[in-house]
Amino acid sequence: MSGVALRQAVKRYGQVQVIHGVDLEIEHGEFCVFVGPSGCGKSTLLRMIAGLEETSEGEISIGGRDVTRADPAERGVAMVFQTYALYPHMTVEENMGFGLKMNGHPKAEIKEKVTEASRILKLDDYLSRKPKALSGGQRQRVAIGRAIVRGPEVFLFDEPLSNLDAELRVDMRVEIARLHKEIGATMIYVTHDQVEAMTLADKIVVLRAGHIEQVGSPMELYQDPDNRFVAGFIGSPSMNFLQGTVQGGQVVIPALGGRKVATSVALPAEGSEVIVGLRPQHLRVSEGGSDVTIDIRERLGGVAYDYLIAPTGERIVAETRGDEAIPERTKVSVDFDDVDAMFFDAKTEARLR
Ligand code: ADP
Ligand code: MG
Repeated sequence: MSGVALRQAVKRYGQVQVIHGVDLEIEHGEFCVFVGPSGCGKSTLLRMIAGLEETSEGEISIGGRDVTRADPAERGVAMVFQTYALYPHMTVEENMGFGLKMNGHPKAEIKEKVTEASRILKLDDYLSRKPKALSGGQRQRVAIGRAIVRGPEVFLFDEPLSNLDAELRVDMRVEIARLHKEIGATMIYVTHDQVEAMTLADKIVVLRAGHIEQVGSPMELYQDPDNRFVAGFIGSPSMNFLQGTVQGGQVVIPALGGRKVATSVALPAEGSEVIVGLRPQHLRVSEGGSDVTIDIRERLGGVAYDYLIAPTGERIVAETRGDEAIPERTKVSVDFDDVDAMFFDAKTEARLR
């Protein structure tokens, strides 16, 4: 069994602390994604697990074994980087087998493992090519192949698709999901892209400024975020946040013409401000009836996104049908089902439940 556990893991660079006491449990065979904005500490945390960065405080264990001070080579992990880091003068086959060769594995065994990896990654036809004769996606597959041949218990990926163009990124995302199903190893995958996180993960870890904001399955985070940050980060387009006021046990939204929202959550005292969260998918737009204006509409085919401006100056995004006929610049009203509204504390931004 090769789950990964972090206990109060801390990372400091000199005086600067960048990882603040992270506790995390990743099950054997799980696909775990670290997601968060640039600079939040995703790579640092992954490199601490790999042993490429020293852990300042706390404990890291892999497969129940404390590896906090172990060498990278002793941890049973293999890492795949954004830059593929292939040897330009070696063929695909030599690149994939190089690590094993350096460790003195017999030729026949290397051949067998490289053949198996190239079958999984559909690289059979490219084994004698050099990296410069490969596309970006093929190069990244070779880099993944190099990790597979080492037979690690845990795969670590650091933004492996960021150098690929959009179309290829989708293809490779599907490939990586298939790879995980086929080999069933524990995988930890770092990305700043919430769509990659949603589509690949069994478990998402949302990081912000070196802290874990929330851990859960993609749908748990989407449907039940703990705070405004997670609510805004997960889901596309992002959740709308509007100012609301508690009045008579309900929440009044000035941006939507004083629309009252009934809710069973524990609201703060009468007159308090709250943040109302509404997903673009939950909004219905109809002509007339309020002073909200359609500023711009983006048509994506099946759906369209209406970018709206409320009389309060607040901006709202609504998902409508691709063939929506209400013209831009029209005054519209925006409605939703009360149960779909979420509420957040105006100061702490914690979810009100
Ligand atoms: P992410 O991968 O989420 O974009 P990183 O883990 O690379 O973020 O970085 C987290 C924080 O640690 C950033 O603020 C970054 O500036 C800082 N950091 C990373 N490496 C070093 C280093 N060698 N020395 C000092 N600070 C660093
Ligand atoms: Mg990074």
